[in-house]
Amino acid sequence: IKYSDDRGWYDAEVTARAPLSIDPACSVLHYAQEIFEGMKAYRTQDGGAVLFRPDANARRFRQSAERLAMPLIPEELFLEAVRQIVSIDRDWVPSGEGALYLRPFMFGSEVMLGVRPSSEYLFLVIASPAGNYFKGGKDAVTIWVSNDYTRAAPGGTGAAKCGGNYAAGLLPQAQAVANGCDQVVFLDAVERRWVDELGGMNLFFVFDDGSINTPPLGTILPGITRDSLLTIARDRGIKVSESPYAIDQWRADAESGRLRETFACGTAAVITPVGEVRSVDGNFKIGDGGAGPVAKELRKTLTDIQRGNAPDPHGWVQKAY
Ligand code: PMP
Repeated sequence: IKYSDDRGWYDAEVTARAPLSIDPACSVLHYAQEIFEGMKAYRTQDGGAVLFRPDANARRFRQSAERLAMPLIPEELFLEAVRQIVSIDRDWVPSGEGALYLRPFMFGSEVMLGVRPSSEYLFLVIASPAGNYFKGGKDAVTIWVSNDYTRAAPGGTGAAKCGGNYAAGLLPQAQAVANGCDQVVFLDAVERRWVDELGGMNLFFVFDDGSINTPPLGTILPGITRDSLLTIARDRGIKVSESPYAIDQWRADAESGRLRETFACGTAAVITPVGEVRSVDGNFKIGDGGAGPVAKELRKTLTDIQRGNAPDPHGWVQKAY
């Protein structure tokens, strides 16, 4: 779908995937007005396909657009585009653990050099079947605390899903890998003390009194999985909080046994237990280093809802076509 300041949204079309032709002065290549979403279509037992909270992706996309001074695509147009792609690719929606990963995105396409919002945009949706996010089917991941870099500062773009955030995260992620870890975990940019999130997932902490905590919204990406897990946990009577959690406290709680589990969550990996945290200040293990019962149970509940195998009291699951 194209957009221009003059014409609004126009020329919606579905085509076979093919390279785009981009002018060297295309504004996104220089000023990085680019946002995206990540969502999945799941195969249900009756052979159909469903989307999980696609309206939440549409809303977040519009919030990202607002932050990047881009036009706000109408929610219904975003949803219709996603539904059409799933409908056309319906034979590619895997069953079982897999899903059809959908990537709606938009970028400034005006041919111009000049630091101002583009007057033209392209909105596209591409799709690909996806399996397990972490190859090798690991039980738990090891994460590296970045003390050199942060992901987002107050007033910055941390809460927007823009490509630039991920570009800035590549070097710290490479450092995490160089230190033998799977993922990087970022601290806040002001005090370098509060645990924010991973490069592509939000974090949850489970304590010995059964309560669950996750860092508050603000500079982190407002994850749809995060929000869903908070709701599921509340529904089950679990005490949940959204409070800042300091890295020193995390270590102390892990060492004292007060902290039972830590897990990361996101559309791609659903829930991934964190077994060990490494940093320049030393490493610490969480629980027995494997997947904990709360992570396992929440994962099962969420994936059952997503595939239509469990009641959906909040109306999260929608037919894809
Ligand atoms: N944080 C970041 C930085 C992410 O890229 C993602 C993935 N979109 C998440 C958290 C999790 O968000 P969601 O649950 O909506 O996939």
